[in-house]
Amino acid sequence: MDPFGRTIDYLRISVTDRCNERCLYCMPEGYKGWAQRSDHMTADEIVHIAQSATTLGFRKFRLTGGEPLLRSDIVEISRQLWELPGVQTLGISTNATRLESFALPLKKAGVRSVNISLDTLDPVTYRTITGADITPVLKGIDAALCAKFEVVKLNCVLMRGVNESSLHPLIEFAAAHDTPLRFIELMPLSRTDVLNESNFISVGEVMQQLQADGNLEPLVDYRPGHGPARYYLHRSTGAKIGFIGALTTPHFCESCNKLRLTADGKLRPCLGRHGEIDLLAPLRSGASSAESLLREAIANKPENHEFSDCYEPGRPMTAIGG
Ligand code: SAM
Ligand code: SF4
Repeated sequence: MDPFGRTIDYLRISVTDRCNERCLYCMPEGYKGWAQRSDHMTADEIVHIAQSATTLGFRKFRLTGGEPLLRSDIVEISRQLWELPGVQTLGISTNATRLESFALPLKKAGVRSVNISLDTLDPVTYRTITGADITPVLKGIDAALCAKFEVVKLNCVLMRGVNESSLHPLIEFAAAHDTPLRFIELMPLSRTDVLNESNFISVGEVMQQLQADGNLEPLVDYRPGHGPARYYLHRSTGAKIGFIGALTTPHFCESCNKLRLTADGKLRPCLGRHGEIDLLAPLRSGASSAESLLREAIANKPENHEFSDCYEPGRPMTAIGG
């Protein structure tokens, strides 16, 4: 339990800060702040930290990045995490560019849920946002659906003037593939020119548009993958749509259940605050136990993020781990 009565049982582990895409909202143009490879946690270190977390009651784990499927040992890391006593659910967040070949091995290794970034279905807009080709992504989504993970979710970051016209096609796509779709408010974590007031769309605005004709029905008990989204059924298509409004939803942080671990081994109690606790350096020098540092991170978890308070990112999302 943290100082505000929240049970912290979810660890998001970034396995790399590298990525093969360049999403506008995640990686600043010309970004050069990469961690040294030797500063990335090894597979053994990741498993050791996760094992320590289970002894403190962590039950949910998600692998992320950067792009986690760029790591050649990602399947082995997944398998070892899944085999840890106490792990109840294991997820991975990916841009799906490499998922076509990884879906089945990840499923066999124990991964239960896959979150896939998909901000548009339009190839030109996709390239504008990510700098990459959408073709392998769509093949990756197909492969994930064929592999029959417990949950496959699509994540769409809302950006006015960039992907507004993509929302309806995405809803149709989610309905056709019977996979939940989450609309996510843009957080100030990368390039300032996509993060100004004029580019921001609140989840409330999208909900209002979809609700205009009474088309949204709350799905009160639906919570696939234990994330922060509130879900609704889009009646006319049958799509299940989740909304993550970190900036505009009152009391958003009250249900936060997670800590983040960056690829270079720093514990980050809150995405929207600068504070980090170095876990890897003390572990490598044998000075401290992972348990004591995890406890310290839980004790230092702030009540709220600072996104609405002129927050300036210290490091971009790709380096923190999404
Ligand atoms: N590369 C993987 C992917 O794209 O899913 C995993 C890492 S990515 C940082 C994880 C999630 O963070 C993605 O769904 C992405 O859309 C989201 N994200 C990144 N930057 C964001 C921002 N500034 N605001 C809101 N969501 C963001
Ligand atoms: Fe890469 Fe994911 Fe960030 Fe896009 S959101 S740049 S795919 S880490």
